[in-house]
Amino acid sequence: MIDLRSDTVTKPTEKMRQASYNAEVGDDVYGEDPSVHKLEEKAAELLGKESALFVTSGTQGNQIAVLTHCSPGNEIILEENAHIYMYEGAAISAFAGVQPRTLKGHKGAMDPSEVQATIRPEDIHFPETGLICLENTHNKAGGAVLPFENMKGIYQIAKNHHVPVHLDGARLFNAAVSSGISVGEYAGYTDTVQICLSKGLGAPVGSIIAGSKSFIQQARKWRKRLGGGLRQVGVIAEPGYIALTEMVERLSEDHKHAEVLAEGLANMEGLKVENKVETNIVLINVEDTGHNAESFLTALQKEGVLAVPFGPNTVRFVTHYDVSGQDIDRVIKKVNDAVSSQLTS
Ligand SMILES: *Cc1c(COP(=O)(O)O)cnc(C)c1O
Repeated sequence: MIDLRSDTVTKPTEKMRQASYNAEVGDDVYGEDPSVHKLEEKAAELLGKESALFVTSGTQGNQIAVLTHCSPGNEIILEENAHIYMYEGAAISAFAGVQPRTLKGHKGAMDPSEVQATIRPEDIHFPETGLICLENTHNKAGGAVLPFENMKGIYQIAKNHHVPVHLDGARLFNAAVSSGISVGEYAGYTDTVQICLSKGLGAPVGSIIAGSKSFIQQARKWRKRLGGGLRQVGVIAEPGYIALTEMVERLSEDHKHAEVLAEGLANMEGLKVENKVETNIVLINVEDTGHNAESFLTALQKEGVLAVPFGPNTVRFVTHYDVSGQDIDRVIKKVNDAVSSQLTS
C-alpha cells in the first residue's frame, strides 16, 4: 500500500526510536523531565517566543490556546474552513464556550478589512471578540501558504483592537520551507502558535504551543485540566526534538513529490487539480471520470493506493517522509489504471 491519506501516517525514524530508547526522563507534571525541557526550549527559540509547551496533539494545542485566550461567551473569528472550526468536534463551543464567527477566505486567507469589520464594538448586546485564528499552511485550501503580508495586516488590526491572534501552524514548517520565510518570522505576527511534530516532521506523537511566559503558565494549567499532564514523557519528547532539528529541510522533497504528482494527474482525462500546489497537498476533482470521491478511492485502493475524500468529488493526496519519488511514479500509473478502467466500462 502507498499511503497518501495524510502526513500523520509517517512512522518514527530509526534515529527517533534510538533517541526514545536513550531518553533521560523525569516526571513532567513536576517539571522534572529534562528531555521535555530541551524540546520546549528549542521550540520557543525557533518560534521566537518566550516559552513553549509540549502537548499531546494539534487539536489539544489549539483548544488549550482558545481556552487560555478566551472566556465563555466570547466570539472568535476564523476562516470558514479552518481546522479549529471544521475538524475539532466543536470543542471551542463544548469546552471553551465560545461562539465561532467565520469569514470566507481566499485560499485560506481572510481579508484583513473584513476581519476588522467583524471585530465587535463595545455594546451590551454583543459578545466580545476574544480571539482571531489563522491557519498556515491551510489544510482545506490544499496546503496553501498564507501570504506574509496578509498575516501582518491581520495582526496589526488585531493589535489596534487589543484582540489576540492564534496561529494554527500544524504545517507551519511546510509554509516556511515553501516561502523561505522562517517559522520565527511568521510567529512574530501572532500572539500564540501551535505546531505539529507528528505530521510532516515525522515524530510519533505531539505538538507544541508557544507564546509569552504568562500565557504558557496558564496554558500548562489548562493542559492539566484536560488530562494532558504526562509523566516520563521524555520518551516522546526526544523524537520530537529530532523532528524539529533534523526533519525540516527535507520537507522540500515532499513538496517536490506533490508537484510531480499534480503534474502527472493534471494530464489525465477526467481529472482536475483543484489547488495551486505550494506544499505537500494535492486536491483532485474526479467528477469527470464518472466517479465520485468515494468510488474513486475504492477503485484506487484496489490498486494499492490510499487517499481521503475531501468533498463529494474531491480527493486529497498528501506526500510525506514515507513516500519516495518511485512511489509517486507508481501512484500516477495506478491512478491512470483506475481512471481508464472506469472510462471504458
Ligand atoms: C492535523 C491538523 C490539526 C490537528 O492535529 P492533531 O494532532 O491531528 O490533533 C490542526 N490543525 C491543522 C491545520 C491540521 O492539519
